[in-house]
Amino acid sequence: MAKRRKRIRGLEKNYERISLLVLLMIFAVVVIPPLFSPAPPEEEEQGYVFPPPLESEPLPLKVYNHRQGEVMSMDLEEYLVGVVAAEMPASFHPEALRAQAAAARTYTLKKALDGGGCDRHPGAHVCTDHTHCQAWTSPEGILSRPEGEANLERIRGAVSSTAGLVLTFAGERIDAVYHSTCGGHTAAAHQVWSGSAPYLEAVTCGYCNHSPWHTTRAQLPFARFQEIFSRQSALPVMTSRGTPQLQVLEASSLGRIKSLKVGSVTYSAWQFRQLLDLPTAWFTHTYQDDALQFELRGYGHGVGLCQYGADGMGRAGRSFEDILHHYYRGVAIGPLRKP
Ligand SMILES: [Zn+2]
Ligand SMILES: [Zn+2]
Repeated sequence: MAKRRKRIRGLEKNYERISLLVLLMIFAVVVIPPLFSPAPPEEEEQGYVFPPPLESEPLPLKVYNHRQGEVMSMDLEEYLVGVVAAEMPASFHPEALRAQAAAARTYTLKKALDGGGCDRHPGAHVCTDHTHCQAWTSPEGILSRPEGEANLERIRGAVSSTAGLVLTFAGERIDAVYHSTCGGHTAAAHQVWSGSAPYLEAVTCGYCNHSPWHTTRAQLPFARFQEIFSRQSALPVMTSRGTPQLQVLEASSLGRIKSLKVGSVTYSAWQFRQLLDLPTAWFTHTYQDDALQFELRGYGHGVGLCQYGADGMGRAGRSFEDILHHYYRGVAIGPLRKP
């Protein structure tokens, strides 16, 4: 009980100290589910041929493997094959896989070269813990799954045909954050975190309707709510009528929540989501049948690239460049090295 309270307080403290950059890095992958149930392959993808591989500079990365507890040295592009495999279903449209590869490459280099590496594992540029850096699957792991060989080839094609390409804004590598499903409209960075970035603005998506997370419902019995939040505070969390003392403090015009109050304690939407295991902070709630009834939109923080949206754009005939320009406003897509 005390441990959790301490953790929450620690996080709140950190919020004040941590720069936008680090915040983005921490939250980037925390809320991205590492694996989804694969979507069925689409007819129009048949006959898709990846463009020839691009050149990339050999850039050895030190990757902390959190399952094996050791640092692995590997080529950046080879590492990215494992990241794309873990962060996006291989059945997604090839242009979505290419967009994901470029976003993951940018995210990795920003963290490794500009951000001082993985702060949880000194000596490593990134770790394979999806709650911290980016999820990663070994080639053997990919091959052990159904359709493994075809998937590995597909992902290799996506990575090699974008090799060396990164996203920059005003000459700087961007924080290429991404999430599973925005729910129809992405969030600007400042609507979710404490800082902003000009390329992380809210945009209409309209391409992620096929996601199982686009619109969902959840319910939480009042008793469970009381149990969870009583652990966080000794003060009352329920009204005298037995309903939750729950108040939304900050929300975007569309209703994506940034902070809430339960009893006398303020929570960031991220903390609230963690405590209740909610897929998103874009929700409305009502009270019915002695339970909180949630109507939710999307999965993840909602900032940057919407993965299901990328798949939808690919299926609609858009290129990976179109996808990246849609979700990261005003960015340039170019070679790994800054000019
Ligand atoms: Zn890490
Ligand atoms: Zn979307």
